[in-house]
Amino acid sequence: RARVAEKVENCIDSLTLSLSEKAKAFREAGESVVSFGTGEPDFTTPEYICDGAKAAIDAGHTKYDAVTGVAALRNAIAKKLREDNGLSYGMDEIIVNSGAKSSLSVALQTILNPGDEVIIPKPYWVSYTEMVKLAGGVPVVVDTDPENAFKMTAEQMKAAITDKTKAMMLNTPVNPTGVLYSREELQALADVAVAADILVIADEIYEEFVYDGNKMVSIASLGEAIKNNTILVNGFSKTYAMTGWRLGYAAAPADIIAGMKRIQGHTISHPSTITQYAGITALEEKGEVVNEIIRIFDERRRGMMARLDKISQLSYIYPQSTFYIFVDISQVIEDNRYGIASGYEFSQRLLNEQKVVTIPGEAFGVTEHIRLSFATSMEEIEEGFNRIEAFLASAC
Ligand code: PLP
Repeated sequence: RARVAEKVENCIDSLTLSLSEKAKAFREAGESVVSFGTGEPDFTTPEYICDGAKAAIDAGHTKYDAVTGVAALRNAIAKKLREDNGLSYGMDEIIVNSGAKSSLSVALQTILNPGDEVIIPKPYWVSYTEMVKLAGGVPVVVDTDPENAFKMTAEQMKAAITDKTKAMMLNTPVNPTGVLYSREELQALADVAVAADILVIADEIYEEFVYDGNKMVSIASLGEAIKNNTILVNGFSKTYAMTGWRLGYAAAPADIIAGMKRIQGHTISHPSTITQYAGITALEEKGEVVNEIIRIFDERRRGMMARLDKISQLSYIYPQSTFYIFVDISQVIEDNRYGIASGYEFSQRLLNEQKVVTIPGEAFGVTEHIRLSFATSMEEIEEGFNRIEAFLASAC
């Protein structure tokens, strides 16, 4: 008898693992590797937040606390949602989890019965499909149109609905494409969700990484009916450069939060109390430091686009948000001289030949793209692009 359960066997390992292992081996062999692969800010956690955690330890906040999270943190989150997103949630409508990843997976475990379908627009963050499967659900991946910057339309969503559809994943700002759904686009999706009584899991983790004066719209803010069908997920990893602290949260109607509480209570209890106190400090004393991080990211974004604009074989989706640029490599694939048939082959060859890490589109369900992260210094970006140019010049 197999010791590992089928549901685990059916869950894929991260596609990027082999590439990052190879990059590590190159580094250990003394090679200079440039990485456009990073999914986290390259800054250390702001000092004021670390001070908040140290003060929490000194004050003895090192014990178990409420399963849904420290009350003062839930209060601070409620205030944030009110002020930033125009949303009013009570204390029984918020739960704190170990990262947004855990908010998403606990939410799915809470709402899915075996065989329930979850709509996932493609390209998607790979954990969505695997989380749905692990929760007993069936991912229904929806093809989107590159001409529409890969945003799912209300028609595409409607066409994917069956009598088994329970929920849809909605990520805006979108990883990996860097696009932002407009209020009108969200309204159209919300109308379909409400009419078909489908829950929307709104992953807003990249909320603050929005450029050109735009602002993310929370789908839950579009009216009481859609708010009642939405599980809003956000977290501290990206905004506050707190990836290692593991702090995220969900806001949803009380019945769903009560279900999530039951699961969390029997599994992890709650995220580290010290981390939660750091989260309170992060929200309550949020200041210029976050704006400064976003300003630096914006500079890099422009720097990266300037370099991309000079490479005729590559095109890209305009990155309105996140810290990623989704680059179309179909011209390289079509050019037989390269002998490259997919994003994966492109990423692999670029790493082997020029020691540049990129994430192949396959990691997000598509084959003719690669994702470049600008969570790295301007110097690294310039060096990385020198190498990409050399790669494209030498490969043919
Ligand atoms: N959602 C998306 C789209 C992400 O890209 C990530 C992290 O890469 C997460 C959620 C998870 O973030 P956390 O560190 O809060 O678990």
